[in-house]
Amino acid sequence: MADSFTNEQWFERAKEVIPGGVNSPVRSFRSVGGTPYTVRSGHGSHVTDVEGRVYLDFVQSYGASLLGHAHPVVVDAVEVTVKNGSTFGAPTPGEVLLAEAIVERVEGLEQIRFVSSGTEAVMSAVRLARGFTGRDKIVKFDGCYHGHSDQLLVAGGSGVAELGLPGSAGVPGGAIADTWVAPYNEVPRLDDDVACVIVEPIAANMNLVQPKEGFLEGLRAECDRVGALLIFDEVITGFRVGPGGCADLLGVTPDLWCFGKVIGGGLPVGGFGGSKEILSYLAPQGPVYQGGTLSGNPLAMAAGKAVLDAVTPNDYVELTERAQNFARSFCGAIRKGGLWACVPAAGPLLGLYIAPPGSDFSAPSNYAESKAIAETGLYAPFFHAMLERGVALAPGSYEVMFVSMAHSDEELAMTIELAQDAAASVVTALA
Ligand SMILES: *Cc1c(COP(=O)(O)O)cnc(C)c1O
Repeated sequence: MADSFTNEQWFERAKEVIPGGVNSPVRSFRSVGGTPYTVRSGHGSHVTDVEGRVYLDFVQSYGASLLGHAHPVVVDAVEVTVKNGSTFGAPTPGEVLLAEAIVERVEGLEQIRFVSSGTEAVMSAVRLARGFTGRDKIVKFDGCYHGHSDQLLVAGGSGVAELGLPGSAGVPGGAIADTWVAPYNEVPRLDDDVACVIVEPIAANMNLVQPKEGFLEGLRAECDRVGALLIFDEVITGFRVGPGGCADLLGVTPDLWCFGKVIGGGLPVGGFGGSKEILSYLAPQGPVYQGGTLSGNPLAMAAGKAVLDAVTPNDYVELTERAQNFARSFCGAIRKGGLWACVPAAGPLLGLYIAPPGSDFSAPSNYAESKAIAETGLYAPFFHAMLERGVALAPGSYEVMFVSMAHSDEELAMTIELAQDAAASVVTALA
């Protein structure tokens, strides 16, 4: 019986047949140490591991889950859809309905094409930007994550808009020769050979880093000055920080948007969109090729549509308020427990910075500052102290916390209490 295996046993079996035992590196617990829990099921704000241990889950599939796990509207949508077949390689009504729902909600977005992951969405958006402008160079920001395509797996340099080094073995120098890396929150000066600037409008893959006043506006103006396209990678922020995403929340409109995570309701999905003028460059209308066997997959479309339908604009306001109140008390509790902490909030997205008692960091505004806090090494013991108490944070200090709509006030209050105790236990172990 599968369930008589422990987490340890499942992970050992996994390591035999799956590299590192995981299908995405962060899941391996490599950066916090220990053995990952293997999830058997998840409902609402909780996941249950194969040993029957229940965790209050702040990972929420790294943001793919907004309503919480196995929400009835999503389960129903997928059940109804799958009974009629899960993929056809032909147009389906479901993809039209989800595209309409997104176009309706995102001011300035006229068309969207669906793919199967955030990585694919970004990769395709960059190709489209290059095809549209007839230019090769792209600019990204140090610490922003845009999926694992070669051209964007680049390690940042120091200084302004430097040529980076490959961020992974297997990425040839040539693949990133046209990728320039700039520090987040500084507007780089562009040349007129730049096709696009891609940015996480709220950076949520280097822990949480908020855009400074004027940063996104500055990017918009600089792109306009040289005729480059501005791409917002809203794979995490889209339909999480608000019904219209960051562009709406922050008042800056990009030329292209990338989505993923929430819009698939927990199924594999991505999407990229913009104006009809730019999107007309895509095949079959235009010269930029892009396609996919499972693109616009009926199950993902149905799940995503069910989520968007279930969430009202007011739900976002409430979720944000609840998450931000939680952030303040959670941070206070960790500090009361004796550790240094900072829990910045952008909409309902929460950062979590932990450092030794008496540290005097401030909320990071770029990757270098985020890294300095991560390198104190105190996230890992705090993570484990919380996990022992039944609260699952992300197993890495560059991730953010996801408060879903399923997290109750009682659960958030309990988390705050546990956090003080967890922090105190870490401080005791330090002594
Ligand atoms: C998760 C993420 C991606 C990659 O999406 P995948 O579905 O994992 O390929 C790209 N950009 C951002 C901002 C993300 O958070």
